Amino acid sequence: MELIDGKILANTIKDEIAAEVDQLKSAGSKVPHLAAVLVGEDPASQAYVRNKVKSCERVGFDSTLIRRPADTTQAELLEIVDQLNKDDNIDGFIVQLPLPDHIDEDEVTLAIDPKKDVDGFHPVNFGRMAQGLSCYIPATPFGILQMLRRLDIPTQGKEVVVIGRSNIVGTPISILLSRKAEIGNSTVTLCHSRTQNLKEHVLRADIIIAAIGRPNFVTADMVKEGAVIIDVGINRVDDASRKRGYRLVGDVDFEAVAPKSSFITPVPGGVGQLTVVALLLNTLKACKKEVYG
Ligand code: NAD
Repeated sequence: MELIDGKILANTIKDEIAAEVDQLKSAGSKVPHLAAVLVGEDPASQAYVRNKVKSCERVGFDSTLIRRPADTTQAELLEIVDQLNKDDNIDGFIVQLPLPDHIDEDEVTLAIDPKKDVDGFHPVNFGRMAQGLSCYIPATPFGILQMLRRLDIPTQGKEVVVIGRSNIVGTPISILLSRKAEIGNSTVTLCHSRTQNLKEHVLRADIIIAAIGRPNFVTADMVKEGAVIIDVGINRVDDASRKRGYRLVGDVDFEAVAPKSSFITPVPGGVGQLTVVALLLNTLKACKKEVYG
């Protein structure tokens, strides 16, 4: 069993990005600039956005954080999006989800200029991804692709089972791994809450990607000997022994599944680390106008 250390991989890629930024600077070119919009006080969202801003500093990007209170109106948020779309100094931006209940997330996502949509959530980017055209790939699936590529984990002809069909993880990674591509050409089964005989499907998998949001959902009896385990889930479980009263666990019963696996990602310290890096890679592409010219 090999533990996939997301932090080490992420640091390697951040070093590569930082080196590219240095080259841009010495050539007198513009440095990538990412903006993040955070509405409300959700603690997890605040932590994610802080991490994104810190990662920008680490690689030499410029970053702008726009914070607004939870009672910001739909119109006010759309105005901010419009300003960011028009601002030539900003290469890409994200609106941190989830948004407060009174805001229509779909309308906000649709308002973002696809050329600046470094989260890859806009249907234009999603459609381009599905057709194999150049696009911004959503950050978590892009991070998973980086992980598979850099660890030389073969995907060609492999049985992949994805559990969870969200628009940000399960559905895009299922599309990406079934595409005709170097990291792709897999036979993908997408399982979800209505799947029957889930265990039978998962037992066939050479690669399991769990994006469900339920602690310890994937148990050892569901896993084939030697499978690769990519655990996307981030779940809080009560833990009185911790100062903050909880700890983070994935969707996979790590202790029981790890001995059966060939590769496994820990939570924390696995996929999440690569998600942030993928956002940086998309912002670099935006700055270099690699996707839309
Ligand atoms: P989601 O919460 O939108 O949806 C959950 C999915 O799980 C649904 O598609 C549903 O069909 C499926 N599901 C629920 N119960 C099921 C069951 N009993 N059997 C089979 N499938 C079932 O999904 P999401 O937004 O992709 O989030 C999933 C998890 O991944 C969450 O824990 C989230 O915090 C985490 N996440 C982590 C990262 C990261 O960077 N590591 C990024 C995004 C999400």
